[in-house]
Amino acid sequence: MCLIKDAMTKKQHNFEAETGRILELLTHSIYSNKEIFLRELISNASDAIDKARLKALTDTTFLGDDTNFEIKVEIDKKAKTLTITDNGIGMTEDEVHKHIGTIAKSGTKEFLEKMEKAKEGGDHNLIGQFGVGFYSAFMVADSIDVITRSGLDKKAHKWTSDGKSGYEIEETKKEGRGTQVVLHLGEGNHELLEDWKVRELIKKYSNYVAVPIMMQELDTRTDDEKKKEPKKLEMEQVNETKPIWKKSKTSIKEDEYKDFYQSVSMDFNAPLGHIHSNIEGNVSYSTLLYIPQETNAFSDMRDPNKEYGPKLYVQNVLILEHAKELLPTWLRFVSGVVETTDLPLNISREMLQSNQTLDTIKKSLVKKIVWELKKLRTKNPEGYAKFFMNYGTILKEWVYYEQDLKESIAEILEFDTLLGDKKMSLDEYLETQKDKEKTIYYITGKSRSEVLASPYLAQFKDTKTDVILLTDTIDEWMIGVLDEYKKIKLKSITASDISLKEETAEEKKKAETTEKQFKDMLELVKNTIGTDKIEKVELNSNLGDALGALKTADGAMNPQMEKMMKAMGQPVPETKRILELNPSNKLVKAMKKEFKDDIKSKKLKDLTNYAYMQAILLEGGELENIADFVGLTNKFAGEYLK
Ligand code: ADP
Repeated sequence: MCLIKDAMTKKQHNFEAETGRILELLTHSIYSNKEIFLRELISNASDAIDKARLKALTDTTFLGDDTNFEIKVEIDKKAKTLTITDNGIGMTEDEVHKHIGTIAKSGTKEFLEKMEKAKEGGDHNLIGQFGVGFYSAFMVADSIDVITRSGLDKKAHKWTSDGKSGYEIEETKKEGRGTQVVLHLGEGNHELLEDWKVRELIKKYSNYVAVPIMMQELDTRTDDEKKKEPKKLEMEQVNETKPIWKKSKTSIKEDEYKDFYQSVSMDFNAPLGHIHSNIEGNVSYSTLLYIPQETNAFSDMRDPNKEYGPKLYVQNVLILEHAKELLPTWLRFVSGVVETTDLPLNISREMLQSNQTLDTIKKSLVKKIVWELKKLRTKNPEGYAKFFMNYGTILKEWVYYEQDLKESIAEILEFDTLLGDKKMSLDEYLETQKDKEKTIYYITGKSRSEVLASPYLAQFKDTKTDVILLTDTIDEWMIGVLDEYKKIKLKSITASDISLKEETAEEKKKAETTEKQFKDMLELVKNTIGTDKIEKVELNSNLGDALGALKTADGAMNPQMEKMMKAMGQPVPETKRILELNPSNKLVKAMKKEFKDDIKSKKLKDLTNYAYMQAILLEGGELENIADFVGLTNKFAGEYLK
């Protein structure tokens, strides 16, 4: 809706509903950390300057004489204003409406929902983590003027609002390109008229903004001295513009690394670690990349649809906010900066997509990150465990996609195991097999409780041999390509004949006799269940107390994978399973007796079907007919209660 006051000069507009809600939240604030408003305004000014630089690459007359980029922060104690001025790209009238009149951020709706929840829960810190940009200035200002002139426009415009119901726009005069934001500070915020306070905020939140932030020099003379000898105060730079990634590592404190991390990512936690290097070579580049530890409610980098990638600078110009060309998707949680002088400044996005320089940098970054993660795991195991809990699934994707690197990546994975009380790496797992011939045993399934029910674990428990428990969906894919690690085979315990105990000659002989005794019965069991369902029936005396279990034939697709492929609509051949029966189980013994006494008995058929259904359930499978199973169970229970 638009209320036209004076069609020629001043136009008044109402805020959109969402903007109104944000402003309402801000002004009646719940919010304890008002001071981030300056960081937001300076960041907007710096972005506007980046855009002007970028524009000038293709439009050589765009900058004119105004090429000395800077952000000015000025205090007027009398007028009680704080003014932030930039000579960036500026805004046309339409752009003012679009950018300042509405909140165009895609995450706004989600943000409002989170904020309202947080308000109920009393979490006042959320706003600071999200940053509502320009509007945060209404936390300290009673009204705001934005005077702006686009570099493409001769006209300038002034936007004014008290942050309540709407705003006014009028044409105005302004020398040169850029934007000036004038904050009329409210009662209670007059501390912001103190020079030291503003400098402190700039240092704290905007120290590494790549543009000089200028303030009037401090006049430390007494009032008398000032009167006696008036002096024109010069502007001086308050921040450090040498980008942190170009500084020497030894000159940077841990806190500075953390501050910079918070400014390039949306994460307000400390990162797990960083990679800072300056590479000179065929392709030269500097980089400062960060690995997160926590996830972030406002910017969940586990989401493959999120924009990701470090900022890309070429010769001090920010070319891309998110250079996804520099990192593979499965490294989407890494943020930071890459700067190179080996790209032309006027490179287009299309050219970036197949660029050799970027490919070379990308390869080297991937290696560095893997290497750094390995180091972090030993240096800070607890932090790494948190990181792995949050991003481990993405790491496992790497094994699948980065087949050249799969072993290095496998080295930094962590797994739950049957016997261990905390996650271990494959190397740590192999350590547990010191005196044995090494094999990596694993079992896959939907959940920990499901895999722990597998009868195939019995002999591992008995012999205290550890087994890796794989319960992530991605594990099936990962294991499919990993196959071996440091030349040691990975073996699925549900798809291999494994006997951990050495059999004596006597035991072997006994087993052979048992085999013979059961041979015909096993054939009958197979036919009763149906050769369309099972390929073979075997004996396995390593199943603990269990009646039986289903094995996957060597080389055949395991049932979880089969299910996944089917769910994805892939054509998969139905793989037949192998039913293994435990010869020392009472029911199996009863089957044998029945087979001898009356080969056609109903009891033998029931026992056979029951054994098969139990084996399906034990591996987390679904029964075709639950009623049959319940019926049989009741039958057995009936016997039991006799
Ligand atoms: P964000 O900066 O996160 O997009 P803001 O609410 O802070 O959100 O700003 C909204 C938009 O207003 C910016 O994206 C930009 O297009 C425009 N804008 C804000 N400040 C300036 C400025 N100083 N110069 C030019 N454009 C600006």
